[in-house]
Amino acid sequence: MPAPLVLGTGLEEPIDRNGAFPRLNAEQRSRLRALGTSEPIEPGQVLFREGDEAYDFFVIEEGAIALVDGYGAANRVIAVHGRHRFVGELNLLTGSSVFLTAVVRDAGEVIRVPADVLRRVIGNDEELSNIIVRALLERRSILIGLETGHRVIGSRYSTDSRRLREFLARNRVPYHWFDLEEDEEAAVLIQAAGVEPRETPVVLLSGGAVLRNPTNAELGRGIGLGARGEPPALCDLVVVGGGPAGLAAAVYGASEGLDTQAVEGTAFGGQASTSSRIENYLGFPAGISGGELTDRAQLQAAKFGARLVVPAQAVGIQTESGHYAIELSTGDTVRGRTVVVATGAQYRRLDLPGLERFEGNGVYYAATQAEAQRCSNEPVVVVGGGNSAGQAAMFLGQRTSECRLLIRGEDLGKSMSRYLVDEIERDPRITVQTNSQVVELDGETELDAVVIANSETSERVRVPTKALFVFIGASPHTSWIREFVACDDDGFLRVGGDNALLLETSRPGIFAVGDVRSGSIKRVATAVGEGSMAVRLVHQRLASF
Ligand SMILES: Cc1cc2nc3c(=O)[nH]c(=O)nc-3n(C[C@H](O)[C@H](O)[C@H](O)COP(=O)(O)OP(=O)(O)OC[C@H]3O[C@@H](n4cnc5c(N)ncnc54)[C@H](O)[C@@H]3O)c2cc1C
Repeated sequence: MPAPLVLGTGLEEPIDRNGAFPRLNAEQRSRLRALGTSEPIEPGQVLFREGDEAYDFFVIEEGAIALVDGYGAANRVIAVHGRHRFVGELNLLTGSSVFLTAVVRDAGEVIRVPADVLRRVIGNDEELSNIIVRALLERRSILIGLETGHRVIGSRYSTDSRRLREFLARNRVPYHWFDLEEDEEAAVLIQAAGVEPRETPVVLLSGGAVLRNPTNAELGRGIGLGARGEPPALCDLVVVGGGPAGLAAAVYGASEGLDTQAVEGTAFGGQASTSSRIENYLGFPAGISGGELTDRAQLQAAKFGARLVVPAQAVGIQTESGHYAIELSTGDTVRGRTVVVATGAQYRRLDLPGLERFEGNGVYYAATQAEAQRCSNEPVVVVGGGNSAGQAAMFLGQRTSECRLLIRGEDLGKSMSRYLVDEIERDPRITVQTNSQVVELDGETELDAVVIANSETSERVRVPTKALFVFIGASPHTSWIREFVACDDDGFLRVGGDNALLLETSRPGIFAVGDVRSGSIKRVATAVGEGSMAVRLVHQRLASF
């Protein structure tokens, strides 16, 4: 029996923090009114519902609207918006499915603007675009923190539970996590959904669908991630990999009139999206989180008409009547006259017995909010001497009781940017241990401790910790293309040989950009620069075909 929803008048509107809940002025509203329709609203009226594939943008002229999670069941009121505020979330622009219900609390009037009209406003009206895009991005971050939306239920020890949570987190999709071991509600929820504990992990989508241990592709489809419909028969440009390099190529390709399609194996944003704060990217003096940079770049690529496909892993490539055909893990094939390979690199693993047992459950390769939550108030160990290790240490130092940063050499400044070295040295919560490496992992079902050896003194110390973060270099994602184009000894793609354009591989029309390129600099800015630059060379190659 659904619980009746009582929308009390006492509910306060949230304060407008960081532009998440702005009020539009009379002039701004009148511009939107001219593009939409004015409609009366009545208490209890539902404007859009969890699980809907799409919805319209609403500006409140008079009255109040509540956003509800689990409408008709849990009835959790997330926020109430009143006069001159607007109702909508990032999925308005990305097209992924709706995970909150909008219910009218107080009668009044709204301006209804269809989503495709709103997208045009974002493209043409700079003032409204700034206000609306900023609010939608902020709202997404707030919702992720609130644990709303789709529900994932499973055991914390299950690798599939971890995979699904990581997939949602990497794609910045809000979700609730219910641990079968800990949350009493977990058993109630799966029973109500008719799911046996052995069928978990299960995802209960907002809107009611039940996905039993879905693949990432099934979950992606269920929540409406990425482009819908059939891929075009042949594009001017296929971008493979959606990190900063690939997203830049997609933005420039589509904005310069190329028919562009980008395919991404896990989540747009790549390594950069796992960074909690990128402080050296031009134009962001206060830093920007990798998640926000990714959300912005995706919106930008989509605005120019790039087709963004996720999750879809490239698994092979071949020539086909004068163009390239890329086979995807989904079984589809995408075809392009030119290809920009931006599949990046993956962090190396430590060579330690039992490592696999702890991966994702004590040993991590990213330091985001999700990992930090798992080890808050615990001591953590970070291994590595590069910028990513340094950033992770800074981030974790603020969220855990103690952070040890281990480097094999004796000088942190050798491979880390000076600004990070200075910050780390100033931070009393971080201890740097030089000439040190982890030689043993200890624990039964989860990590309990690591053994650290000092190469100078030969001393071995057992350090209790629930979390080891590893950032020790990278290997390229090139297994799908390694046989097809020239690579260096480590598998990174070579570019710029005889008769090749700059950034062009040994095959005409296939370019390599960002971390996947042999000799790359491994920075966000260089990846973005190369992705953008490749599009100029794509034009040149297309003209020569
Ligand atoms: C935690 C962390 C913090 C960092 N901080 C900074 C920083 O502050 N400043 C800075 O300049 N740099 C930083 N870096 C480095 C920077 O993020 C990378 O250099 C940059 O992301 C490289 O971009 P890319 O697009 O070349 O590759 P990646 O970011 O690696 O993206 C590659 C993408 O391709 C996808 N992919 C792989 N194989 C396939 C396939 N077969 N089919 C389809 N898709 C595929 C991957 O899923 C991934 O999304 C950081 C890195 C990390 C991990």
